Amino acid sequence: KTKKIAIYGKGGIGKSTTVSNIATAYSNLNKDVMVIGCDPKADTTRTLMGRRLPTILNTIKEKKSPQLNDIIFKGFNNVLCVESGGPEPGVGCAGRGIIVAMNLLEKIHGISDNLDLILYDVLGDVVCGGFAVPLREEYADEVYIVSSGEYMSLYAANNISKGVKKLKGKLAGIILNSKGISNEAKIVNDFAKKLSTTLVGVIPRNELVQKSEIEAKTVVEKFPQSNQAKSYENLIIDMINNKNLSTPSPFDDDEFEEFFLNYSKE
Ligand code: ATP
Ligand code: MG
Repeated sequence: KTKKIAIYGKGGIGKSTTVSNIATAYSNLNKDVMVIGCDPKADTTRTLMGRRLPTILNTIKEKKSPQLNDIIFKGFNNVLCVESGGPEPGVGCAGRGIIVAMNLLEKIHGISDNLDLILYDVLGDVVCGGFAVPLREEYADEVYIVSSGEYMSLYAANNISKGVKKLKGKLAGIILNSKGISNEAKIVNDFAKKLSTTLVGVIPRNELVQKSEIEAKTVVEKFPQSNQAKSYENLIIDMINNKNLSTPSPFDDDEFEEFFLNYSKE
């Protein structure tokens, strides 16, 4: 059965970087992987393709009946790449873009059944119509939230988990993309526990990410022997083996403030 995972997290926290790197790491294990960027920026697949892809929304504006190869592209290691697209900033919610894109993908029979893994990279922390789409049963089976140990990042993670709970999604874990603040792993580990989930993996902060990004490559492609590449490999293996799906139990605002005060006392 195809594993379908949606990745959420605060804007700019490292979702797309994480998705493209774990996709590459998994493809290195001879797995068939598809990455679906659900973000108007359409930059999830750039490091897999070495360039920016046309989005489904833009393509269907130009072509009445797009073919498979107009919307699905082969990236590094044959990772399949899709960008849904969506409205430009300021125009509103990306929900429609994702819905149109998903409907089109759905029409393409059989494609996803042969894959080992589908990763959805979902736009920011905006809880709007678009938020729900990858959460729906027929798309993603499980949700991961990328966060650092910073207040705003965890605040967004908590809000996202409220959305996951409301929409009856399953939370599979928190991924720590480190910012290097003190007590970071402990904070995020405790946060995860409170949410009834676990910290499934830790990605260090490393400038190899920028060095690869400039060349439109993943770290796993550009620096395959690095510890950073190894951390993405370990993460995807742990995600694949993770059986711990839960309905999140989010903090209310007071609890969240209190949670943070505890660490500033330490
Ligand atoms: P958005 O919400 O805007 O789509 P995002 O969550 O997808 O953002 P990314 O685009 O993956 O975030 O990352 C934001 C920036 O942080 C990128 O420029 C990337 O180079 C950098 N970055 C991400 N992870 C790391 C890391 N582990 N070490 C160093 N830099 C990182
Ligand atoms: Mg992104």
